[in-house]
Amino acid sequence: MDKNLFAGLEDLGIDNINNIGVFKKADEKVEEADTAKIVLSQIEKEKIHIYDKEVKCPVCESTFKVRMVKSASPRVQKKDGDFYIKYDIVNPYFYDVWICNNCGYSSMKVDFNKIKEYQKALISTKITSKWQGKSYPEVFDVNIAIERYKLALYNSVIMEAASSRKAMNCLKIAWMYRLNEDKDTELVFLTEAIEGFNDAFINEATPLYGMDDSTLMYLIGELYRRVGDSENANIWFSKVISGRNIDQKIKEMARTQKDFIKEVEQNNKRAQEEAEEEEENTTREKKGFFSRFFSK
Ligand SMILES: [Zn+2]
Repeated sequence: MDKNLFAGLEDLGIDNINNIGVFKKADEKVEEADTAKIVLSQIEKEKIHIYDKEVKCPVCESTFKVRMVKSASPRVQKKDGDFYIKYDIVNPYFYDVWICNNCGYSSMKVDFNKIKEYQKALISTKITSKWQGKSYPEVFDVNIAIERYKLALYNSVIMEAASSRKAMNCLKIAWMYRLNEDKDTELVFLTEAIEGFNDAFINEATPLYGMDDSTLMYLIGELYRRVGDSENANIWFSKVISGRNIDQKIKEMARTQKDFIKEVEQNNKRAQEEAEEEEENTTREKKGFFSRFFSK
């Protein structure tokens, strides 16, 4: 399967995006999500929760406005094991990426000013030179969010950003595909995130995105669980459970997810045994049926 993690960025002037790996190995194509339609009244409703803020681009130094979500507005509906939060009313993830329309530099807002001089030069030569710009509607939706997160990820790859930054970006793209109920593409980005967080765990100092060592270990385990790699998931959960000086809350989360894997595996085993038993019974019945025709 061909994979294009940056599909959808062509309109922004970004080209040569086929077969670019976030962690230098991607060559499979990602299917682009269908464009969702937003009901007009929903847009009007969301506008109330958004305001503009002026920021300065660290690359080209121009000032521009970014859209911000009022901090009191989002309401948490549910939280997933990998820290994804499902929001009511307005979705802060949609507004998480800031794009400088002048030079094309794009980043998750938390990292926006984290850029070194040599990285600015990389953005100028490899992105600004091709950047065509784009105007977005007042209210963003999940597909716009995917495009913006991908643009931020592409910037991170170009500027040779830390693995944690790319991994967090991949994780957030995966969450957007989860929201879109596109399981296959979600798994593609979760797999990328696993690779990046594994590298960050070895080569970077915590805290990373508010995560200490044990939280990051838990997250890696949970991402493995989500892509169906129970073996690696259990290894990381066990590290958290048996570790010293680890917060009880994160230990409990690891225990819960480890038990969950066990439960799923037991259910699968039971289902398989039942299927085998049924098959055996059917064979026996058949034999019983034929034996009536033949003498022993
Ligand atoms: Zn700029």
